[in-house]
Amino acid sequence: MAKKKIPNIAARFGPRYGASLRKRWNLVMLKKLSKYECPQCMHKKVEWVSVGIWRCRKCGYTFAGGAYEPFLTHKVR
Ligand SMILES: [Zn+2]
Repeated sequence: MAKKKIPNIAARFGPRYGASLRKRWNLVMLKKLSKYECPQCMHKKVEWVSVGIWRCRKCGYTFAGGAYEPFLTHKVR
């Protein structure tokens, strides 16, 4: 199976800011821009509002989550 291609939206920066930084920025921005499933109405309509704030375009449910993902991936101790 062919490797799934990740769109490079950091291409707008050209050769600037360093390759590893552009790569990290690209992955964060792709997470931020993609739609997620709403925990209330189960529709895939949750959008990023600002850092840590997410809103569902279907039912208007607004909630706090991760900065660039609506859920936290790391364990909070
Ligand atoms: Zn919803």
